[in-house]
Formats: sequence, C-alpha cells, structure tokens
Amino acid sequence: MSREMDCGQAVEMLHDFLRRELTPELAQQVKQHLEDCRPCLGHARFEESYLAMLEAKVKAAGCPDEVRSRILAVLRETTQDEGG
Ligand SMILES: [Zn+2]
Repeated sequence: MSREMDCGQAVEMLHDFLRRELTPELAQQVKQHLEDCRPCLGHARFEESYLAMLEAKVKAAGCPDEVRSRILAVLRETTQDEGG
C-alpha cells in the first residue's frame, strides 16, 4: 500500500474533501496531491465552484430555517403514530 495518492483516488475523494467529510489524514493526502498535481487542482477548483453554485441555488430557493422546521413538524407527526 503506497502512501502517495494517485489521481484516481484524489478525484474519487474530491467531493468528500470539498464537503469536509474526510478524516484529517485523508484530507491532508488529497490536499498534498492537489498541491503537486495541476490537472487535479484544476478539477478541484471546478468542482468547488460547482458546489458553491448549487449551495447558492438552494439558498435562493427558500429560507432554509423554514424548510427545516417544516420537515421537523412532519417528522413529529409521523413518529407520533408509531406503535399502538
Ligand atoms: Zn492528480
């Protein structure tokens, strides 16, 4: 098992890396690869701006707090009917 990450692995973990969902060790390895590998860095920049655009669209679509409280209300209703 090699310590160095290859391009395939780096791209595979890119989404989780951008969402900060990797362990610190893996995130460090992806970051290291991006610093050494220009094609992957370009790919990461593209994905990052794509994710930022998606987030902006979600925010523009409605107030997140309102949506969340509605979901919580629905969940409360459905869990009340459990059992019996
Ligand atoms: Zn690469």
